[in-house]
Amino acid sequence: MLAASTSTSSVLVVGTIVSRTLVAGTTASTAKHVLAACTTASGHGAVEDRIGDGRVDPVHLRLALRPNFLTEVRCHRFRIPEQSIPKEAAYQIINDELMLDGNPRLNLASFVTTWMEPECDKLIVASINKNYVDMDEYPVTTELQNRCVNMIAHLFNAPLGESEAAVGVGTVGSSEAIMLAGLAFKRKWQNKRKAEGKPCDKPNIVTGANVQVCWEKFARYFEVELKEVKLSDGYYVMDPHKAVELVDENTICVAAILGSTLNGEFEDVKLLNNLLAEKNKKTGWETPIHVDAASGGFIAPFLYPKLEWDFRLPLVKSINVSGHKYGLVYAGIGWVIWRSKEDLPEELIFHINYLGTDQPTFTLNFSKG
Ligand SMILES: *Cc1c(COP(=O)(O)O)cnc(C)c1O
Repeated sequence: MLAASTSTSSVLVVGTIVSRTLVAGTTASTAKHVLAACTTASGHGAVEDRIGDGRVDPVHLRLALRPNFLTEVRCHRFRIPEQSIPKEAAYQIINDELMLDGNPRLNLASFVTTWMEPECDKLIVASINKNYVDMDEYPVTTELQNRCVNMIAHLFNAPLGESEAAVGVGTVGSSEAIMLAGLAFKRKWQNKRKAEGKPCDKPNIVTGANVQVCWEKFARYFEVELKEVKLSDGYYVMDPHKAVELVDENTICVAAILGSTLNGEFEDVKLLNNLLAEKNKKTGWETPIHVDAASGGFIAPFLYPKLEWDFRLPLVKSINVSGHKYGLVYAGIGWVIWRSKEDLPEELIFHINYLGTDQPTFTLNFSKG
């Protein structure tokens, strides 16, 4: 996480939650009282002075309740403390500060109002120490990921044979999934252009102006021009006609959204597929479609099973979906699924064999936190 620097000038004094039974000899019920009791007992003088005179700044003056006694802990907000801190005190300092965060179950402002069944918590805690990208050491975790990829590919109607394995990868969310899908399109397009002896230095991608910010991130990080279809009054998703007009020989893909972040609306992927197929036929290009189903991928197959938006449409080559968009799943899970092996250029797959066997990977990170 990128840490935003905050002002160093404020002195923050945070008392602990007071457990009266543990604070021997005091009936104090506020943080301030406990702080006073503690500092007086340890002979450091009046708390107010030390807070008010600025000398403490930018040192955090904290109280931490250890199992049997109160201890005063001083630590600099931005520097490693010179002295060690008892582990209970370190825990308490961090835990107290985290109380100032919002409460995820009350967070109605974003897509991730999270609560999970206690059994999920148990499984997560039991696996939290596994670096699960190590497929040799954790083959069952790998197998579970592969099962998810296959289940989702079938749900999205990938044209797989009876015993054919699906192609896809678990990610930390749709943003990573979209970076990977975008890279695959870019590389496929470059390979094709090179084979035709044509320049391949000006790739672009066509989306609606309503795209989620991760598409802009993809475009900037991986040097692809983002061509956005303007929205119009009363029409707040990508118009397939206008999108297809914007497509040229440098277009690596058109990205449609199933579940626009702003209003939840599904874009008309079927119409886009048909219009683009006509244009491809006329021009000889093979411009493909990606569906960003971050929010709609686990809604459409169940509520609108007849709606054709997925691999039933021939130009849809990859789809991303987030596992964590509707609460009941903690943030940190998404997938990208490709229609077939041919849609994921082999040179993007890294074959790692640190531990003896082949571990094919296509992710943007290695260790997973
Ligand atoms: C939320 C969202 C994303 C990004 O998904 P994360 O899983 O949060 O990375 C991408 N596209 C759309 C349409 C979204 O709603």
